[in-house]
Amino acid sequence: MSSEPLIEVKNLKKYFWVKNNVLGKVKQHLKAVDDISFHINKGETFGLVGESGCGKSTTGRTIMRLYDPTDGEIYFDGTEIGKLNEKKLKPFRKRMQIILQDPFASLNPHMPIKEIISEPLSTFKNIGLKEKDELVYDILHKVGLNKSQANRYPHEFSGGQRQRVGIARALVVKPEFVLCDEPISALDVSIQAQIINMLEEFQDEFGLTYLFIAHDLSMVRHISDRIGVMYLGEIVEIATSDELYTNPLHPYTKALLSSIPIPDPDIALSREKYIITGDIPSPLNPPPGCRFRTRCKYVSEKCSKTKPKMKEVSSGHVVSCHLFY
Ligand code: SF4
Repeated sequence: MSSEPLIEVKNLKKYFWVKNNVLGKVKQHLKAVDDISFHINKGETFGLVGESGCGKSTTGRTIMRLYDPTDGEIYFDGTEIGKLNEKKLKPFRKRMQIILQDPFASLNPHMPIKEIISEPLSTFKNIGLKEKDELVYDILHKVGLNKSQANRYPHEFSGGQRQRVGIARALVVKPEFVLCDEPISALDVSIQAQIINMLEEFQDEFGLTYLFIAHDLSMVRHISDRIGVMYLGEIVEIATSDELYTNPLHPYTKALLSSIPIPDPDIALSREKYIITGDIPSPLNPPPGCRFRTRCKYVSEKCSKTKPKMKEVSSGHVVSCHLFY
């Protein structure tokens, strides 16, 4: 893994306009991603975790330029791509691909998998039929499927096999960066480890850089080099995978880790419990000051008045909480 960033995000914001009355006359901003900064080094896996609706998928899709950013900068291999038009973005599109959560919904049911996998090749490469077929059969073999299955349709495959097709489709154009957006959440537990192992093997073989989005914290720990924790559109903590799990600092990170079941009852009993109560506030109207203050047991007056800033508390471990100023 290199120490050179492939992806750099600076003060990224993504707001969506929503109508907030029945006549649709009043509009408000839904602050899905609100001023976040982080980087992903070449060959690294950066995990992004948080509750549903915290903005992690929107972050990934904005970096991929599937959404236009509202503000901030996105650097891909040193080039600012956040404001590029579609024509100038095209060379970058091939270099970044996405693996989605639900392989059945993401694969066209009317196309045989050979066509599904070769579709990005037609978009990005001017190649002949023979070369295209060879590339498709090669990647099919790499994901554990074979040539004889190439003319079958998605419904003829199991969930795990469909995710292999999704991975083949993403990797056939030899990208450098892959957004893995909950790629195992819809799969049986028995299949999840196979898919994770495959992604790790491809990372070694092709030098891939991953942004791995998930809510399964134990799996994120296994695959990630570093992890960012998101809450209500903001990143509240970043650390290496081991550091985050052994020394979580932000109260929200502690609460997320408390929710992971531990099979050993002695370790489970000795671990500090942190149960958060209450619902996550609306991103239409996030609380001023610290956004976690409505659910935090350490809340103080300062938390409602002043927004905490990111602070590096040890090498590579940054946290946004007044407890650490
Ligand atoms: Fe809790 Fe205050 Fe820290 Fe926010 S800043 S996490 S409310 S202690």
